[in-house]
Amino acid sequence: MGVPPEPDDDLYVRLKAFEGRPAVTGGTGKDPVNGPMIRHWCEAIGDENPAYQGPDAIAPPTMLQAWTMGGLSGHGHGNRRSHGHGRPGRSSAYDALFALLDEAGCTSVVATDCEQEYLRPLRPGDRITFDAVIESVSPRKTTKLGTGYFVTTRMDVRADGELAGTHRFRILKYASAEGRRTPVRAHSHTRPQPHPHPHPRPVINRDNAGFWAGVAERKLLIQRCTHCATLRFPWLPGCNHCGGDGWDTVEATGHGTVFSYVVMHHPPFPAFDPPYAVGLIELAEGVRMVAGVVGVPPEKVRVGMPVRLEFRTVEEDLVLPVFDGRQA
Ligand code: ZN
Repeated sequence: MGVPPEPDDDLYVRLKAFEGRPAVTGGTGKDPVNGPMIRHWCEAIGDENPAYQGPDAIAPPTMLQAWTMGGLSGHGHGNRRSHGHGRPGRSSAYDALFALLDEAGCTSVVATDCEQEYLRPLRPGDRITFDAVIESVSPRKTTKLGTGYFVTTRMDVRADGELAGTHRFRILKYASAEGRRTPVRAHSHTRPQPHPHPHPRPVINRDNAGFWAGVAERKLLIQRCTHCATLRFPWLPGCNHCGGDGWDTVEATGHGTVFSYVVMHHPPFPAFDPPYAVGLIELAEGVRMVAGVVGVPPEKVRVGMPVRLEFRTVEEDLVLPVFDGRQA
């Protein structure tokens, strides 16, 4: 089970044999490079560079991959009809590589990074073709996520047949370290524990450490700018109002109202029992924070409902602020 621990890695040898084999063949852009797509992209990104506007516009180089994407309908009949090519797709070699990794227990996947190289600008009217190769497979690596292999594919994007850019995309296919810590129990006769899955932990960093130190002492601390006295939440290194970086704290009274809320039914998350309500709570001091709403059935939660702060010991070493709808 899982990635074999032997130092001589037979799997790696088999994976490495895929280097240089095709990942995608015969790809054709669904649309030629065109002004409307460039304009939508620039509006979405907020890029007002004049090079991407007007009659001599070029496409933003970072759009490279966009021209190769199949969209919601995928690379299907449209391609064949307009260009007479077969549909591009993942090659059998790429599928075989994935199958090999899956069989070895590396069933999880995460995209790690992407590199692009631009060789010539793309202009409206350029017709896009592309293919991709399995460029490299790394030796077995152990990361915080688990142990597995980095697989890099390189897509070559051509405009009217001329290489315009390359897009390298790297993933990690791995056996989850999380999965090994809490293995799935196959014995149906054993009683399942109510919560075998740990509650997600807050990410504590230099900016918010003071807040969580307060929570540990059962105090809800709001940051206050020492220059202009503006209160702020969540915790930040500087003041959004005056830009000042000095701050102290005030302790919240714990009174608040539900400013907005959601009742979570889906997706299921192992550490939680749906349905449950998560509120955006407006504190009496004026700032808002996201927290669980407890004490009343989730369907009874309403905008404007008064709530009262409570500290809940979720796990032995995890205290979280929640808001109780009964105690207001
Ligand atoms: Zn300020």
